[in-house]
Amino acid sequence: MNLKIDQKQAVQNLMELLAADGPSCGEGPVANVVKQQLLAAGCDPKWIRENVSKKRLPKEFTIGNLVIKIPGTVKAPRLMFSAHLDTVPICRGAVPVKKGNRIVPQGKTGLGGDNRASVATIVTMAQTILKNDLPRPPLTLLFPVGEENGLHGAKAFEAAEGGNPAMCFNIDGSGERGGVIGALGAIRWEATVRGKSVHAAVNPEGGVSSAIIAANAIAWLKANGWFGRINKGTVKGTANVGTLKGGEVDNQVMDNLLVTGEWRSHSPSSLKKISKVWKTAFEKAARELKNNQGECGSVEFFTASDYRSFRLKTGEPVVKRFLKAAPLAGRKAYTEVISAGLDANILNEKGIPTITFDAGNHNAHDLNEYVDIPRYLEACKLATSLATEL
Ligand SMILES: [Zn+2]
Repeated sequence: MNLKIDQKQAVQNLMELLAADGPSCGEGPVANVVKQQLLAAGCDPKWIRENVSKKRLPKEFTIGNLVIKIPGTVKAPRLMFSAHLDTVPICRGAVPVKKGNRIVPQGKTGLGGDNRASVATIVTMAQTILKNDLPRPPLTLLFPVGEENGLHGAKAFEAAEGGNPAMCFNIDGSGERGGVIGALGAIRWEATVRGKSVHAAVNPEGGVSSAIIAANAIAWLKANGWFGRINKGTVKGTANVGTLKGGEVDNQVMDNLLVTGEWRSHSPSSLKKISKVWKTAFEKAARELKNNQGECGSVEFFTASDYRSFRLKTGEPVVKRFLKAAPLAGRKAYTEVISAGLDANILNEKGIPTITFDAGNHNAHDLNEYVDIPRYLEACKLATSLATEL
């Protein structure tokens, strides 16, 4: 089949979506644009479900996931396409303009091509299929909210809400890459470090400073290769302290300090080891710092598993379908594993085999963000090839 994408329409879809507001927790305006674009292409209002998974989302969210189920014309397993709706705060007020082969932000903002280029890709694919009445299996279009602030929409989503698709093609990311078949896992953590508060000038010997406990622990982790990039035999990953918040006044020994950070790795066993080393280092630092009464402080770790790493096998139907479709859209057929968390981590964890590809966005979360139009059009063609019977 020789697929023809209406290029003018595809670029117009993208410009409209880039101009729409939609930060994490405020995706209403962009969801409305998606709906209008699909309705204009002949989407039946009955296929559209709004506020999906809303009851499982944190209460700051104003809308839930947007899900569209397009009936199939051939008997085959249901396919899902997903692209998160939200953009990061740097994109607030973005005005997209065309500049040669690129779409760039007019002022000093990000563009929001992450992830509107991907949303536009799915909209254009659906328009192409509906306008030309192309043969296709049943399709689910999933537009999750809140990817950027913690993969919330994907976490709240249940496979049954998408009609239990056999596989999913997620569109996201920055830069040109192959089909992403693996991504790392991450753990976000908080450590409450408690010391003993005394007057800092009258009785400093009686105090136990939580600042010193944390400093000793972090310095030990850094000196021993457990901070930043970790490469210790089979244990590989990264570790970071993101924030430190503690103390009340300058003349009190600090007795309460909240340290937050994250650990990441492609391997669940590495992640386990990294977390164990960090906890032990903090506990040891707390035990070893004593005041003149022999008293010491304490540390309490709270970890929230953000997402698990995943790795699809190259023989998986979703990978095979991607590799077959890529050359039809003029893309090289290859796969790769990346060091970032995606909605795909969650969807794979939920049992929906999910591969991710890019829609031509570059420099995400940056003032130099832009969409490469030819690469974006390629993505539109790729999505359409994937969705129609190959
Ligand atoms: Zn993204």
